[in-house]
Amino acid sequence: MHNYKTTRRAFRLYHSYNPHYFPLRLFQILFTNLTPFFTLWMSAEIVTALYEKKTKEELFLLVAITLCGKLFIHVMGAILGRCVDNALKQLEHNEAAAFNKKTLSLDYDKLENPEVRHLRRKIVENSWINCYGVTNMRWCLENLITYLVNILYCSVLFVEMVSLIAKLSFDIRGILLLVAIVTCVVLTVVIQSRCGKKQAAAWERSGDLLLRENRLGGGYSQSGMDSRFYKQQAIVEQVDRELSKEHKRLYSEINYIDFALRIPSYLSSKASELCSYLLIGLYCTLGAFPVGSVIKYVGYLGILTNNIGMLFYTLSSLKTNEQFLETYLEYFDIQNDMYQGSLSVEKRSDKQFDIEFKNVSFRYSGSEDFALKDINLNLKVGERLAVVGQNGSGKTTFIKLLCRLYDPTEGEIHMNDFNVRKYDYRQYLDLFSVVFQDYNLLAMPLGNNVASSETWDAVKAEQMLYEVGFGERYEEMPKKLETSLYKNFDEEGVNVSGGEAQKIALARALYKDAPFIILDEPTAALDPIAEAEIYSKFDEIVGDKTAIYISHRLSSCRFCDKIAVFDQGRIVQVGTHEELLTNTEGKYYELWNAQASYYA
Ligand code: ADP
Repeated sequence: MHNYKTTRRAFRLYHSYNPHYFPLRLFQILFTNLTPFFTLWMSAEIVTALYEKKTKEELFLLVAITLCGKLFIHVMGAILGRCVDNALKQLEHNEAAAFNKKTLSLDYDKLENPEVRHLRRKIVENSWINCYGVTNMRWCLENLITYLVNILYCSVLFVEMVSLIAKLSFDIRGILLLVAIVTCVVLTVVIQSRCGKKQAAAWERSGDLLLRENRLGGGYSQSGMDSRFYKQQAIVEQVDRELSKEHKRLYSEINYIDFALRIPSYLSSKASELCSYLLIGLYCTLGAFPVGSVIKYVGYLGILTNNIGMLFYTLSSLKTNEQFLETYLEYFDIQNDMYQGSLSVEKRSDKQFDIEFKNVSFRYSGSEDFALKDINLNLKVGERLAVVGQNGSGKTTFIKLLCRLYDPTEGEIHMNDFNVRKYDYRQYLDLFSVVFQDYNLLAMPLGNNVASSETWDAVKAEQMLYEVGFGERYEEMPKKLETSLYKNFDEEGVNVSGGEAQKIALARALYKDAPFIILDEPTAALDPIAEAEIYSKFDEIVGDKTAIYISHRLSSCRFCDKIAVFDQGRIVQVGTHEELLTNTEGKYYELWNAQASYYA
């Protein structure tokens, strides 16, 4: 017997997103599922009254009770339906919010970890197919409750029927018919469960298929430009044809299970219905209950057998869904293990923050090689440090360690003589304004983007935008700082080019006014003129802050106090531009000459 441990765990988590939803839904099911029972009950009463030639008034009363009762159930059902819908919206909203919150609260190394990314992607993709995961669990649980409530209602009436029969003398035909009904029900249950298992397995395979189709479609539409030049269309169409064949095969299998395999279950449920008619007809003629009850009891028995079968079918669906719930829970179980210190970062108006890397080495999780090895570097307040080196030499990793997105594998980073791990993490992050290469702007008003907050200081925000050279474009913006970026949430939003977006990201970094400003290839999307403009101004803009620049273009870094040259994860040279150029054997000289030859 399966214990549904994963479902129980996932349910507790899901239920916590809105604890009102399931009680409300249960109440709704209890209420609305009364309709068929009430209708059958009242129909039986009316038929019996007709058979017994009751007065017009009595008949009218029965019809009135039936109509009013149905109206009452209907109105109550509609009111409850509204409450349930609202609760469901809240539940779904909170579930999505909890998922996003989990993602945002992950340690950065976990967030970047390919396995964690894969897990997150799987959860999203699973939800596209048959809503596998928590939504599928909700469907199954709601169906289970529905079937159980129906079985409960039927059982009450079944007991009533048996007690009426028990008042009569023993009849072997009745016993035989009852055995036949039970046999048919068991048969239906077995067939339904087997169908459930087979169908679940087929759906699971169809899930994989749908994912592949989806990825193919996504990938193809994204590579629209490449496909024109490299004639990729034929390859994609070939894969698409194969997927279509598989699709057809799989769906005919699902249809086969749906129709062909369900025929025996349909036949056995009809056989049980026939036996029910015979059994109830028999006891009716023997005088156990009035003629109208034939309708009632046959109807109840039909609902009972059908719901028992569906209950088992749903249990097997719930079991199939458990593997998707495991993926979901695995994501929520990821623990953050980055050390969180409590030392308060001194709020120094003189911005006296000195940083020292002491024998720092770093290896990405899952990687064999060190991305940084034995880094020793001192950074004094107000300094301008340029970090240069070829692609993959470790420049970005160095910055990510400095900002504590990762902790060193070996060695320590100190700020004002304390290991940076000891500082309060949020306060430490507040010291840095960083523009990474893969910065992200929000599809929100420009003011929100520059200030990174719900409100903004308009004068300061505008000043920053002008300083980074966004002024001309800003003047064209219809609603100035209120202008939405992109059109995701606002039809009147504006699209910005890569260079313009980079300028906004620079303005955001300046607006933050943190003691450290770090620019990782800040001008990669800018044209050479804009780049030169920014660099010539930046020294002035940055003022007394400590600034670190990473740039491919060595000419941009000439003005820096200190240049650290990275090569294969190590710092191979440190010095000013002039000092470094004197060493004609050095890496800097080699890089400088390589670039100078392009410009020559
Ligand atoms: P740079 O900024 O100089 O181009 P990086 O710091 O990005 O170099 O990369 C340094 C090394 O670390 C490279 O070998 C790169 O492949 C590796 N690396 C960078 N990011 C990751 C990551 N998230 N996981 C594993 N290896 C990484």
